Amino acid sequence: MLDGKRACVIGAGFGGLALAIRLQAAGLATTLIEARDKPGGRAYYWLRDGFTFDAGPTMILQPDAFRALWELTGHDLAADVELLPVSPSLRFNWPDGTQFDLWSEEAAMRRELARFDPADIAGYDALIAHFATLGRVARPFTEGPERRLSSVVAAAPALTKHRAWQSLDQTAARFLRNPKLRQALTFPALLRGGNPRTANALCAALQLPEAHGGMWWPRGGTNRLAAAMLRHFERLGGEARMHDPVVAVDVEGSRATEVETRSGWRGRFDAISSNADLVHTYGDLLRMAPRGPRLARRLAGKRFGHSLFVVHFGIEGGWPGIPHHMVLFGSRYESFLEGAFNHGVLPADFPIYLHHPTVTDPSLAPEGMSTFQAVVPVANRGRLPVDWEQLGPTVEQRVLAEIERRLIPDLTDRLVTCFHYTPRDFTLDFNAHLGAAFGLEPVASQCGPFRPRMRDEVIVNFYRVGATIRPGGGLPEVLAGAGAVAEMMLEDLSR
Ligand SMILES: Cc1cc2nc3c(=O)[nH]c(=O)nc-3n(C[C@H](O)[C@H](O)[C@H](O)COP(=O)(O)OP(=O)(O)OC[C@H]3O[C@@H](n4cnc5c(N)ncnc54)[C@H](O)[C@@H]3O)c2cc1C
Repeated sequence: MLDGKRACVIGAGFGGLALAIRLQAAGLATTLIEARDKPGGRAYYWLRDGFTFDAGPTMILQPDAFRALWELTGHDLAADVELLPVSPSLRFNWPDGTQFDLWSEEAAMRRELARFDPADIAGYDALIAHFATLGRVARPFTEGPERRLSSVVAAAPALTKHRAWQSLDQTAARFLRNPKLRQALTFPALLRGGNPRTANALCAALQLPEAHGGMWWPRGGTNRLAAAMLRHFERLGGEARMHDPVVAVDVEGSRATEVETRSGWRGRFDAISSNADLVHTYGDLLRMAPRGPRLARRLAGKRFGHSLFVVHFGIEGGWPGIPHHMVLFGSRYESFLEGAFNHGVLPADFPIYLHHPTVTDPSLAPEGMSTFQAVVPVANRGRLPVDWEQLGPTVEQRVLAEIERRLIPDLTDRLVTCFHYTPRDFTLDFNAHLGAAFGLEPVASQCGPFRPRMRDEVIVNFYRVGATIRPGGGLPEVLAGAGAVAEMMLEDLSR
């Protein structure tokens, strides 16, 4: 039934790559078109002075979701990418010297809880069990075929019973007494686009139980995983056009027909899916269709999540005492959340997520040197409309000074290379609306059935894929969403 049919995927982020692999593996001739010179989207990378700097995702959870893409055609992910275990999964550090480690190994986690605050062990167990229950209750809305609003109504008693509308913060507070433990266990939402105070527990909290399955690092960086996905797609016969942004998608009646790229290349397709930012997709690529600008305006009215300020730096020396993933909380975390997200200011006191991949994988730096990435959540450009080109160097200095004060005393003398990445770069590199690093904010009104649907409601052969659709941001989620979109596209095209 798929004979002679052709599909196009716009954007080679993890969502686009996973969808393209699934379509091609099912026998549908697929063309993947990417604007930038490398695949991976948010998982772009730079090579500077012998250091490898990964731009985005650092915590690989649920490797089975990746393995499944290889197993579709009897291939083995392990032949292309080596996944190294990371332990502890994440360390949290406060200015008073308190430290808490998150472990995927059950026994180590118990020991750490007993050391940190034995009074919260039962609460921790109850919270994990609660998240598992929420995951079950939410499954009809996050996985499989999209449901209508009537299914939400049918599930309302269960959702009510488990207080599924509550924020991550409220949920953690019901189970945990220790405020530091609450901060630690809700912080990861900030690395998936959610503010712990407003992110809905249903769509933002599920990574905690996920982390119990272990955390992994692809040797050579997350970029190796993206490159392997692209190679795998091409090995299956897929066609990839890199470094050639799509500039227009033609629509005839209710069907998308042709794609045009900046180089002037044009291709005709039976089905088209966009992995690019949705405001850009509708406002720019579909601008000639009456639906394009109209929907772009509607989408732009939704709540977009925060952005990030990222400092990448390479230094002399090895740092075995600094774990792979670490969070440095400031002394006024609550006022940071309030200031950054409610008032759109850049608080003086911000948390830093510090990524130190060379402790697991020394291949990312010249011998005897280390690679770091320091990530600070900041409001998006809508809430904090500052000139990042001007402000960037000052914020970079503040981030380095804090790391120097708390972790690496002679950091400035050891610096070999350093650069930063701002909300403005998210706009320039990804066409990201408001420079939001993760797209739509995962608040209750934008989760599950309230997220943009997989298939356009009017242009019947136009689909969306990636963090914008359900279940949402984060690599396991994006891969799960791509699986559902592939199923829908293949079913539609087989008719
Ligand atoms: C700093 C950072 C750290 C993160 N850490 C983690 C983590 O540790 N673990 C985790 O699971 N998740 C993490 N995330 C979230 C995760 O990276 C994202 O949810 C996921 O990568 C989004 O993938 P995507 O496919 O939706 O889109 P993207 O990665 O945004 O890909 C979209 C692609 O579309 C392309 N594109 C845009 N416009 C066009 C056009 N006109 N023509 C052609 N192509 C176009 C872009 O260039 C891009 O390649 C992190 C994100 C960031 C920013």
